[in-house]
Amino acid sequence: MTFSDSQFFFKDKNLISVLENSLLEKEYSLTFSSQYKIYYLLRPIIPIFVRQFLQKRKDYGEIPENWFMENKLFPKLTELTQGQEFEIPYFWKDKANFCFVTTHDVEEQEGFDRIAKIADLEEELGFRSSWTLIANKYKIDKGLVKDLQNRGFEIGVHGYNHDGKLYFSKSTFDKRAKLINKKLAELGAKGFRSPQFHRNLDWIADLEITHDLSTFDVDPFQPLPGGTYSIFPFIYKNYVELPYTLPQDHTLFVTLENVSSEIWKQKTKWLIRNHALVLLNTHPDYLETDKKLNTYLDFLKYLKNETNGMWKALPQEVASWWKFRDSFSRGEEKNNSGFSQDSVSMIKFKFKKDGLEII
Ligand SMILES: [Zn+2]
Repeated sequence: MTFSDSQFFFKDKNLISVLENSLLEKEYSLTFSSQYKIYYLLRPIIPIFVRQFLQKRKDYGEIPENWFMENKLFPKLTELTQGQEFEIPYFWKDKANFCFVTTHDVEEQEGFDRIAKIADLEEELGFRSSWTLIANKYKIDKGLVKDLQNRGFEIGVHGYNHDGKLYFSKSTFDKRAKLINKKLAELGAKGFRSPQFHRNLDWIADLEITHDLSTFDVDPFQPLPGGTYSIFPFIYKNYVELPYTLPQDHTLFVTLENVSSEIWKQKTKWLIRNHALVLLNTHPDYLETDKKLNTYLDFLKYLKNETNGMWKALPQEVASWWKFRDSFSRGEEKNNSGFSQDSVSMIKFKFKKDGLEII
């Protein structure tokens, strides 16, 4: 069994195996077809407008209108558990109603150059975000990195050079993992996110990280579609996995040509009802117009004004909390996480088709 029994607080082997299949995306093929490999080999010489044309023409198959709300895991768990009640440590510290994390992948130099402005605007609204930077693609201004970290932002690493080949073979990954680890240390970073959301959670375990951000609950628009259907973090091997739970800006703004925060708000309401992790990923590269940037800021204002009991956290804080909650529940004495034992409370819940019912 890959997951520790204690992590889910269940003993039932069937239940754990349903969770494992879902979290590790066993129903999806996360490997590359030869056609796909050829595309990425030729990608550097394909002009950007041709790439965008190909992306737009891409056939995503039948996608339901409410694709971003789809969850295949809860109906399965509901059927399997038949109203059974479970007692577990509550998800968030100090009984926070839900947890919000905002992250940005920085794709190009223009994106990097836009960080300072966006970070200022977030700070004015009382938010701090995580910026994942590509190890070897554009010039990383170390002064800005230090300044952001001093102001409470987080820096992570977004792959080696974002050429789509990181997972083509284990030997490529191993070679690049060394360079990624070097960059993590150099930037004082503990978090990783794969380029293009290509992923192999076993390989990622070779990185010197405390958390990874390379999965999502549901997203049929990714180059490797699939989904963990998890709206909570989970521990895998030596690190905490934090799936994103809101559609990305590129999907909404570019693929679906829908520059609005309505979908984010709609899904957030459901996530809050389930006391879940609201994790958004946007790119400074795609917040290039006032309209797009304001759509993002409008969403932050909505969270601030319209929701209660939000824990605004960085990925590294969520990861260390999740590990603390896990060790607390196993009765481990050792506590150097900075969290107090009083910050954990117990709850009882049962599964229902569209989420959790707290009793
Ligand atoms: Zn990227």
